[in-house]
Amino acid sequence: MNVISNIFQSQNFILKNMSEEKLKIDKIKKGTVIDHIDSGYALTILNLTGLGESPNLMTIGVNVSSKKYNKKDIIKIEGVFLNQIQLQQISILSPNSKISLIEDYKVIEKKKVKLPDIIKSLILCRSNTCISNSGEPIDTEFNVLEEKPLKIQCVYCNRIYKLDEIVFSSKEKIEKRVKQSIELQNILDKS
Ligand SMILES: [Zn+2]
Repeated sequence: MNVISNIFQSQNFILKNMSEEKLKIDKIKKGTVIDHIDSGYALTILNLTGLGESPNLMTIGVNVSSKKYNKKDIIKIEGVFLNQIQLQQISILSPNSKISLIEDYKVIEKKKVKLPDIIKSLILCRSNTCISNSGEPIDTEFNVLEEKPLKIQCVYCNRIYKLDEIVFSSKEKIEKRVKQSIELQNILDKS
């Protein structure tokens, strides 16, 4: 993760000096444009959705001037289309985002993300005593209390989370499973 954000930081340094006009002209042939991202959230989106791990060409604009929101971030990714989970994750991280799918340099579809009232199975509750962490097959569920700044509450243990405390479940679950199998393998190797 650190390596990735370092790369982005160095890219930002260059991109920050580019004008908005240049970013508009810099069209992609095929892929996805995520526009109107809340300013400062482009890197968070790339990190938390896993899009940042793509080897494809990306253009990232941070603090681009915008008529509507004063400042915004923008991400353009060549050859990548977002899956449903990534769209939902973006709706949580930056609910004003507008997503365009590009083919042959033309917009073929526009999607606007919407933050749901209830977020199911997407986010992990970090409370050890929460029933969603008991090993039972229970999906996490959070009520959205406030949209901006984001505040969500676990319906099972009532713990409240802010945006920077959110862990998306997909990634964490995979990491947990990998860790468990390594630990198990160590025990088996020793016996
Ligand atoms: Zn909980």
